[in-house]
Amino acid sequence: MRPDFVRTYSPRMEALTRGAAQTRTAAAYQPAADVSAGADPLAAYHVKQEPYYRPVADEVQLYEAAYSVRMPIMLKGPTGCGKTRFVEYMAWKLGKPLITVACNEDMTASDLVGRFLLDANGTRWQDGPLAVAARLGAICYLDEVVEARQDTTVVIHPLTDARRVLPLEKKGELIEAHPDFQIVISYNPGYQSLMKDLKQSTKQRFGALDFNYPEHDIEAEIVAHESGVTVDVAKNLVHIGERARNLKGHGLDEGLSTRMLIYAGSLIAKGVAPLAACRVALVRPITDDPDMRDALDSAVTTYF
Ligand code: ADP
Repeated sequence: MRPDFVRTYSPRMEALTRGAAQTRTAAAYQPAADVSAGADPLAAYHVKQEPYYRPVADEVQLYEAAYSVRMPIMLKGPTGCGKTRFVEYMAWKLGKPLITVACNEDMTASDLVGRFLLDANGTRWQDGPLAVAARLGAICYLDEVVEARQDTTVVIHPLTDARRVLPLEKKGELIEAHPDFQIVISYNPGYQSLMKDLKQSTKQRFGALDFNYPEHDIEAEIVAHESGVTVDVAKNLVHIGERARNLKGHGLDEGLSTRMLIYAGSLIAKGVAPLAACRVALVRPITDDPDMRDALDSAVTTYF
């Protein structure tokens, strides 16, 4: 379940709520110069409560150093291992607003940069999330950026080198990035194919932090904290996760993520029998292969 302290930017949801929220949205996307007199246009994007984040190595210090020089950062690692939570925590720690964009294959450069909209008074420009972040000074987190169309990654290039600018070609404007602006992307090397990978010219604009499933005791601590089960139960879940991760490449495409272990723990904490909880939250979602299911089910019965 997503915590409610983070606001994810979703172009479709924005479009749906646009009518009702037109005034608010218009105010939110005013250029910085017009905004100084009014309320903070990025207020909705501030991380208000400290997100729970358990550091795994020196990633917090490294990120702080990277932010201090506004280095674009790439968070590399498998799905569900803590990348998003980390960036939410860092935004809170640095006191900077965070605009998160969940990228998908339908996403175009205009979804990020902005577009002209037709309304009763004619056309008006609406900044996309990247333009809002660059203009007003937020951390812009592009989750799974490689999913978006190639033209999308190209628009981030001038923002990720010494120029720090974002050209709005359709509008004929060049945004000079606010000093607080930083771009962060997430990237799962396991998912990439020749057809879908970041270009070298994109990769080389970023510093990279490696993420992986945390070491046993730390992962158990996280699972216990997030799901409400005891550390002993969490440790058993982590054992099952580790067994499944060993099967990656031997019949499983992806290992069990920390997120899945938390789901299983949450069901157990709600009173579901551990075997059923693990079947629903761990085994069934990741494989359809009957032999693999049996292998994973037997791993579950070893620990519960
Ligand atoms: P990703 O962005 O890598 O797909 P998330 O950040 O959404 O994964 O992580 C999934 C869940 O795992 C989070 O919601 C959080 O509950 C938990 N989690 C993983 N790593 C950590 C960590 N180091 N500290 C706290 N929670 C974590």
